[in-house]
Amino acid sequence: MNETIELGTQNPELVKKAINAVLPPSVIGIIGGGQLGRMMAIAARQMGYRVVVLEPTSNSPLGQIADDEWNEPYDDEAALTAMLGFADVVTYEFENVPYAPIRKLASLGNLPQGELPLVVTSHRLREKLAIESAGYKVAPFLAVMSKDELRYAIKRIGYPSILKTSSGGYDGKGQWVLRSDADLPEVLKIANDNEYVLEGFVDFTSEVSVIATRSVNGDVEVFPVTENEHVNQILHVSIAPARIDDSLRAEAESIARGLIEKLDFVGTLAIEMFVTADGLVINELAPRPHNSGHWTIDGCTISQFEQHIRAICGLPLVKPEIRGYAVMVNLLGQHLDYALSAWQKPEFSDGKLHLYGKDEMKKNRKIGHINFVGNDWGELEAKIEQFLIGFPR
Ligand code: ADP
Ligand code: MG
Repeated sequence: MNETIELGTQNPELVKKAINAVLPPSVIGIIGGGQLGRMMAIAARQMGYRVVVLEPTSNSPLGQIADDEWNEPYDDEAALTAMLGFADVVTYEFENVPYAPIRKLASLGNLPQGELPLVVTSHRLREKLAIESAGYKVAPFLAVMSKDELRYAIKRIGYPSILKTSSGGYDGKGQWVLRSDADLPEVLKIANDNEYVLEGFVDFTSEVSVIATRSVNGDVEVFPVTENEHVNQILHVSIAPARIDDSLRAEAESIARGLIEKLDFVGTLAIEMFVTADGLVINELAPRPHNSGHWTIDGCTISQFEQHIRAICGLPLVKPEIRGYAVMVNLLGQHLDYALSAWQKPEFSDGKLHLYGKDEMKKNRKIGHINFVGNDWGELEAKIEQFLIGFPR
């Protein structure tokens, strides 16, 4: 359903881009039915696109609001092939989609991101090597594939350090902090089971992230740098703009732009970084909209989700500009009751509540977030402090 629009003859490049754009009411296929897909789909449907999702579990957060939900495994080649035939453009909402079938299928239809972002970011070791080869800094690390390699890595990197699974980890899962030899027996037990990376502990003053979007036309836009506070290795609060020096801010934005171009990714790339006394150190990448960018829905001229849809559809990207100051508070299963009661109070009623339609309120699982936006940082900060006073941990 690629439609063309009349643009006149003013700029041949623009005309070419517009003719190639996938326009509403075309169908967008999304692989993965979680909250990121849901928020992509909300942005897409607002613009008049239709959305179909491939997701093994029925009634998924995205399935609830999609035009159609196909319940098949992510690597079901028949379903993927059917989706490429059915949808005008296909994207994914998380990095653990098996990349082999995606590679095979990218040649069959419009899957502009291809498998490359998945290959790089679904494997911590590959990801770190890719970041280094693009010329950017990561924490000291070594691959660990056996007990001997773990002992060697600890000798080289020392304590404190963190052992992380190379694939499949999220929200601090699949990570073990090592502070001394006393922590060694527990991790030696698992060292042969899987591929790991041992990473030196970074002495950071804060954590920030930057989200970059690159369209099928090669245009890049970068969202304002966001500051992130984690509790138990899970994102708790994001603050935008990040409270860092302007020189660091410019460097963070330039790293984001540089990485998405050098890695040759299309779509969204989120980059998590540590701010240290020696400058910025990259922690990890995500080839998709990111939890730390949820404030953009209410606090920016364009949301990370709408920008992503524009990028994969070949529409011009929008320059992201923050509306004053924004804070996002993440809601986990154990926070729902508190958040609902606080949100009903007049002083917090301007908080924009986003719940994801999860069917279970599991502890430490992301179930929603709430955004606060304001023009006066002092007032906003005081409001967030008040909101967090009774927040369950
Ligand atoms: P996940 O995939 O679970 O987000 P991360 O590697 O981002 O995994 O780790 C989650 C959080 O744990 C980080 O945001 C940071 O707060 C902390 N962390 C991870 N690695 C390090 C490190 N090398 N040094 C210090 N803190 C770290
Ligand atoms: Mg992380």
